[in-house]
Amino acid sequence: MLRETWINTFTSDEHKFASSMPGLLERLKDGGTVVIAEGYVWEIERRGFMQFGNFLPEVVLKNPEVVKQLHEEFAHAGSDVIEAFTYYGHREMFRLRGREADLEALNRKALSLAREVADKHGKLMAGNLSNTPLYEAGDTATHDKIYDMFKEQVLWAVEGGADFIIGETFSAYGEAAIALKAIREHGNDFHPRPYLGLPAVITMTAHVPERTTDDIPIPEACRRLEEAGAAVVGLNCSRGPDVMMPLIKEIKKICKVPIAALPVPYRTNMEQKTFFNRVYPDNLDCVRCSRIDIRRFAEEALAAGVQYVGLCCGNSPNLTRELAEVYGKDPPASHYRTRTDLSMIFGEAAQNYGSEVARTSQWMTGDGL
Ligand SMILES: [Zn+2]
Repeated sequence: MLRETWINTFTSDEHKFASSMPGLLERLKDGGTVVIAEGYVWEIERRGFMQFGNFLPEVVLKNPEVVKQLHEEFAHAGSDVIEAFTYYGHREMFRLRGREADLEALNRKALSLAREVADKHGKLMAGNLSNTPLYEAGDTATHDKIYDMFKEQVLWAVEGGADFIIGETFSAYGEAAIALKAIREHGNDFHPRPYLGLPAVITMTAHVPERTTDDIPIPEACRRLEEAGAAVVGLNCSRGPDVMMPLIKEIKKICKVPIAALPVPYRTNMEQKTFFNRVYPDNLDCVRCSRIDIRRFAEEALAAGVQYVGLCCGNSPNLTRELAEVYGKDPPASHYRTRTDLSMIFGEAAQNYGSEVARTSQWMTGDGL
């Protein structure tokens, strides 16, 4: 069954195009960079197709056009990767919501939507594993259960033609290590590529302490993941750029593989290090990063040698464009980047109109009143 589906997937012309593209490792070779748009849960919630707190990604089956459109917009904005929207697409979430019957169909649909858009634009497609509420450090039965959940998602991702697999948002090192193990052990099943296994990108989530919830210093957790075969290690979610970057620099000091940095675009600070703070979730917009904040983050990340850069919850295409431009990607969306000099009211053209335009400008800004 698995192999038949695989053959059907991989005889398409689209995939021939995809397989001739440089893969993740080739793109990162010799200091190369990859920009990745994440944050699908939040952006789809903002668009009205996701329930906060519930977080079941049922939009993939109910309104696939919404997911596909967001993939398109992130591609347009300069993301090098189209990430399949299987965040919280694991068996425990679906069991909890009484929707286990939809689990496989949802994973397969999410992967096919991402593959389709990735092929259209010459992008990489990533499968995705995310944190579960099951992990207990001292209880190996939970480890086995999580491994089995990740394994089935890895097999679906391989069959769906993923170029690599992301395991993300892990608070516990132990759970991240299980995700990596599942990708390493099953990321090559049924797959035609010559290398052993799909590359694994594993990102921990640093909350308030500088340690994982199973009490390992976060840079050391990343080093262990690198040692266990992760192609890229780093951080995603929870912290905004200013709070994430110092820890990224510590990770960079002890890891040799490319480093990932995907903060949330919110203005967290040393007093409130994560976005799970007083304004979470319904008032978070009041501390959202501007595009200038994100440009500054991208410049700092590039200077620090971060090769795999993105944004997590709160991301939007205009912020991804900032990353892409700083990282030298020249995305189609740059055609529409800000040009106040073209404004009929504030720009050069304003000189050619009558005094009413000058007056309107004054009224709008209050300057010189
Ligand atoms: Zn996030």
